[in-house]
This record gives sequence, structure tokens and C-alpha cells, in this order.
Amino acid sequence: MASVSIQGVRKSYGDVHIIRGVDVDIRDGEFVTLVGPSGCGKSTLLRMVAGLEDISEGQIHIGPKVVNDMPPKDRDIAMVFQSYALYPHMTVQENMAFSLKMKGAPQAEIAPKVDRAARILDLGHLLDRYPRQLSGGQRQRVAMGRAIVRDPQVFLFDEPLSNLDAKLRVQMRTEIKALHQRLKTTVIYVTHDQVEAMTMADKIVVLNDGVVQQVGSPLEVYDHPANQFVAGFIGSPAMNFLKGRLRADGLALDERHVLPCPGAPAARIGAELVYGVRPEHFRFDDAGFEAKVEVVEPTGSETQVMASAAGQAITAVFRERVGARPGEIIRLAVDEGHAHLFDPATGRPV
Ligand code: ADP
Ligand code: MG
Repeated sequence: MASVSIQGVRKSYGDVHIIRGVDVDIRDGEFVTLVGPSGCGKSTLLRMVAGLEDISEGQIHIGPKVVNDMPPKDRDIAMVFQSYALYPHMTVQENMAFSLKMKGAPQAEIAPKVDRAARILDLGHLLDRYPRQLSGGQRQRVAMGRAIVRDPQVFLFDEPLSNLDAKLRVQMRTEIKALHQRLKTTVIYVTHDQVEAMTMADKIVVLNDGVVQQVGSPLEVYDHPANQFVAGFIGSPAMNFLKGRLRADGLALDERHVLPCPGAPAARIGAELVYGVRPEHFRFDDAGFEAKVEVVEPTGSETQVMASAAGQAITAVFRERVGARPGEIIRLAVDEGHAHLFDPATGRPV
């Protein structure tokens, strides 16, 4: 196991700047997810840690060593990709043993390591099969087996579950998390899926456009987003953003729709601001503001209500069942302490 420290790291292709000054410290044994929209630079950053891309500027440490100029094979890391890239002509056993064999490890060392990985991943009964004889989930497990046998200092995962169907993805998510709890090896896990990032991580790093937006525990990032980008990216359905003007009595969407925001700085009265509220923080309240119901979607465990207020769209989620019908006017209030105000020019909290 080892810590990983990314300091002032930049990556450019010519004058295109992909990673624009990233600092992240990952503790020994920590499970860190790196999340952000497609194209924001997640794979590039991970590949720099792996040694598959040059670092244009900055330093990466694995443990005490600077690895900038160290070839991938000497970094003591194991990487699992979205495409499992198993060798089709090799059995599960041979696939898992391959890297150790290439290193020239003796059979007496290889066999117990493969056995251990197979036991951990419940692959014991599949060792003689070929990849084409496996399901997607089993192939993914073999890919992880190949990483485990190397007993690396750090696991690097790049969207390893993206090719699996939704149900299997959830199951594998739990398996990977359990695996980490057992092995306690440092993990950097890249995903564009914020639910995956939230559920698996000790610590989330939110990346956008090559810049770290926020680092924190899943709930810190959810409850206290550092900016409007993070607020909108983390959480599903996404946070509502309503535009209005700050008055003494709250944020006015128009004359008739005023959302209380206690604690808003008096200095900003008169300013155009963005009011952020998560769908689950609305409640029905006769003293609330009026909204017109557009669509009601019951999922069984909860009900999603799409509505509009002063011409702006609102998504609300209720744990209880909702009788409201399209076209009906409802009154909504926002739970105390759950309003976020953002400056639309900077995206920063107000
Ligand atoms: P992510 O994994 O977050 O989807 P990537 O790290 O793969 O994003 O890519 C980030 C950006 O870098 C993308 O805009 C991509 O087109 C660009 N990029 C990646 N590799 C190269 C390359 N070899 N040359 C030029 N641009 C690249
Ligand atoms: Mg990628």
C-alpha cells in the first residue's frame, strides 16, 4: 500500500491544456473516486499516475518516490480498464497468471497468488474457462483478478463497470467496495457516474475541464458543494437552480414567487442570484409558493413531481405518495437550512 500525491500537475498537447494544475493527496489505503463529465481529463490524469502519459508539469509521488520519470512497470500499480482486454486464447487461470509469468516469477509463487485472487473473487470454479465462456460480470472479475495477483501498492480503475448492465453494475460496485475493505489497498477509481462515485468513495475528487472543483467526503460534497458546477453535477435528480432577485424577504422569481432565504447577505439585496435546492428538500406547505404541476412520476418508493414556478422548471421528490395531477396548482416550501445561493457570474456560493 502507498499514498499518492499529485502536486501542481499539468498536461498539455501542444497548446491544448487538458489538465490545468491539479493537486490531490491520497492517503495510504484510501478509496478515492475521480468523477467528472466525459472529456474533463479523468483518464488523462489516471494515465499519468500509471505512467502511460508524460507529465507536462508538476510531480506525482507514489509512496515516498517521485515517479515522473519511472516506467509503468516499476511503479507497483495495477490498472483495470473499461474494456477488460483479457487474452482470448488463455484460460482464466492463465490470464491471471500472465503478468507474474512475464516477470519471471516461479510457478511456486504464481499458483498461490492466483488461487488467493480466485478465492477472493469467487472465480475458483471458472479457472479453466476461456473469456468467451464467461458473462460480462465474470470477465470483469477476471480483469480484477489480474490486478490482485500483482499485489500492487495502488489499484487504478478507469470506468471498469461502464460496459455492464445496470443491475450488474450495482452488484460489482458493492463487490469492489468489499474487496477494498478486505485488501485495504489504495484505490483511485475514475467514473463519470456520480452515484458510483458517491457510493464507493472515502473521498471524492470532482474534476471539470482539467481543474479540481472540490475534494471531500461524499456527504461533504453533497451537502456543501463548493460551487454551482459541483452542486449540479453531484446528486440525482439534479439540484434545481432558480433564477431570481434577492429582496429582504427572500429570492423573488417574480412578484408572486418569493423563496425565503434566511442568512442571505443583506449586502447582496437587489442582486440577481441563483437559488439551488435539491429535489428532496421541497415539502408541501400551505404557506409556500405556488407551482403548477406538469408531470407526476411514481416509482413506488417515491414520487417525482415536475412543476413550474414563474416559468422556471422544478423537480421535486417526495417519499410519500402524491395525489397531485398535471395542471393542478400546489404550494411548496423548502426545508429549513437546505437552500443554496450562488452568484451566477462566478458560480461561487453567496
Ligand atoms: P475523460 O476520461 O474525463 O473522459 P480524457 O482524459 O480521456 O477525458 O480526455 C480529456 C481531453 O483530452 C479530451 O478533450 C480529449 O479529447 C483530450 N485528449 C486525450 N488524449 C489526447 C491526445 N493524445 N491528444 C490530444 N488530445 C487528447
Ligand atoms: Mg475516460
